Amino acid sequence: MAEKITAYRFDRLDQTLSQLNKENCSIIAGGTDVMVLHKSRRGVPPKIPNPVIFIDHLSELKRVYQNQKDLHIGACCTYSELLEDPLIPLPLKNAIKTIAAPAIRNRGTLGGNICNASPAGDTLPLLYVYNAKLLLRSVNGDRVVAISDFIQGVRRVGRQHNEILVEIILPSVLEEGSHVVFEKVGNRNADAIAKVGFAGLIRVNDSRVEDVRFAFGAVGPTMVRSVDIEKKLLGKPIPLADSDVAEVVAAFDKIIRPIDDQRSTAIYRKKVALNLLRYFLSSKQYQPN
Ligand SMILES: Cc1cc2nc3c(=O)[nH]c(=O)nc-3n(C[C@H](O)[C@H](O)[C@H](O)COP(=O)(O)OP(=O)(O)OC[C@H]3O[C@@H](n4cnc5c(N)ncnc54)[C@H](O)[C@@H]3O)c2cc1C
Repeated sequence: MAEKITAYRFDRLDQTLSQLNKENCSIIAGGTDVMVLHKSRRGVPPKIPNPVIFIDHLSELKRVYQNQKDLHIGACCTYSELLEDPLIPLPLKNAIKTIAAPAIRNRGTLGGNICNASPAGDTLPLLYVYNAKLLLRSVNGDRVVAISDFIQGVRRVGRQHNEILVEIILPSVLEEGSHVVFEKVGNRNADAIAKVGFAGLIRVNDSRVEDVRFAFGAVGPTMVRSVDIEKKLLGKPIPLADSDVAEVVAAFDKIIRPIDDQRSTAIYRKKVALNLLRYFLSSKQYQPN
């Protein structure tokens, strides 16, 4: 006989948080990572060690709204919903379009991609360069944490067992003026897990670099970003000199440590990552005519 699983599905977020505070539960949003993690043989129900608690239907987790120049995205918005939302920035939509196929995009959520903390999570490089902050809620109240502090390792995040990720906050993302790109290298344009992911952001003022950020996915246990290396480019004239580009690429060469796995090799990943960075920094799109 199949083992029984206790499952909760409350109408409201406060009831859900109250249950999470009483009992250690496995949170299920879209379930597209959870169900793969606990998959079993055909015909055998998945073995999930804790009671499960569904959150994907909670309206408090599905809002997208603007607060001044910040964009707040509900953690349980599915990819398909975000693709339809006029507030979502184009680079994030471009990243979402590379994720899986429509059936998964109808279930998978942005919050799930973050809390799953896969090194190949496709939205993560962009969320790092946007300096995303995460609003976590529990019965004890709210706290806001930078995504780079929240994600601590492969599938390891700094979430207390009684907390739910409620919102992803993208500070100043609705302000004009930055050039942002997302690149994913995989076996196909979509429906493929990334061999390498890259996001870059640059803002130029008076022909000089005012702000620049870049992050790599799938080349380390978490996203690779270095504010110290980025600082080397601040104030530099545009177009960047070849020596400036080379210095930054060489600095990343030292800190990117990919692995060999079933999807790619460490050598290929590193080469592609550095090429993407070089290409981004030499791009004509943000340079004066
Ligand atoms: C066929 C297939 C293809 C895929 N392709 C891609 C791809 O191309 N790129 C990619 O990045 N991913 C891909 N994925 C992975 C997956 O779809 C994404 O990571 C998705 O964003 C997960 O969201 P979810 O809502 O389904 O998460 P779930 O599976 O529900 O949850 C994932 C984890 O996050 C936790 N969690 C979820 N929401 C919250 C919350 N609000 N608060 C606290 N904890 C939470 C869960 O407890 C669990 O640990 C694929 C998956 C499948 C099955």
